[in-house]
Amino acid sequence: MQQRRPLMAGNWKMYKTADEAAQTAQQLVERVAGVTGVDIMIAPTYTALVPVFEVIQNSPVALGAQNLFWEDDGAYTGEISAPMLKSVGCQYGIIGHSERRQYFGETDETVNKKIQAALQVGLKPVFCVGETEEERASEQTLSVLDKQVKKGLEGLVSDQLDTLIIAYEPVWAIGTGKTATDDQAQEVHQFIRSLVEKNFGTALSNSIRILYGGSVKPDNVAGLMSMPDIDGALVGGASLDAESFSKIIKY
Ligand code: PEP
Repeated sequence: MQQRRPLMAGNWKMYKTADEAAQTAQQLVERVAGVTGVDIMIAPTYTALVPVFEVIQNSPVALGAQNLFWEDDGAYTGEISAPMLKSVGCQYGIIGHSERRQYFGETDETVNKKIQAALQVGLKPVFCVGETEEERASEQTLSVLDKQVKKGLEGLVSDQLDTLIIAYEPVWAIGTGKTATDDQAQEVHQFIRSLVEKNFGTALSNSIRILYGGSVKPDNVAGLMSMPDIDGALVGGASLDAESFSKIIKY
């Protein structure tokens, strides 16, 4: 089985002004200097992308966006496109985060269009999936994930998906302090990998990185990372502080 390079990604959500974001990015750069063997990404708000990029551009930390729109340009007030994000230094785009699904009407169909738009310009999509608490309680976790993965990747073929990253984020674990146990997370990651294998073949299922997200902290990251199908973390709250995020990166 091939070795997958871990990715530690920080989602800064709607926190930090441009100056605050640049300052945290600077602190992070200092703390991860010399770290090897792991990819690092931070996704600040749109208004902080440029100042953060200036700070991180010659460091191991890469830039990501928290969302994007699927058209390249046009009369879409308030939206930002994949080529625009690429032009300010983004390498990654988070797509389908549960907060976007929950509060901003994101659907599997819009997620699919956004993944295609990201791939078109060479932005690596971080495609988020995950079940709600009710869905888990009623034993629908696997069927929900099956649908999200199938519909999110509809129309795409394995050759297009080399750079795709999937983030499994159980909605009940995001920002709640409740983390899935290592075994609960592993079970779902293994299932998602099997879905990728079924739909896109063994080569992609072996190489694709599947991140875990949901209250990842410095003290629970090592256990999660010891699981065979967990290839990194998408971190919200604990990525806002450079010291705690750097501890996660150096798990
Ligand atoms: C997230 O925003 O993707 C996330 C997992 O948040 P938190 O780490 O705060 O649960």
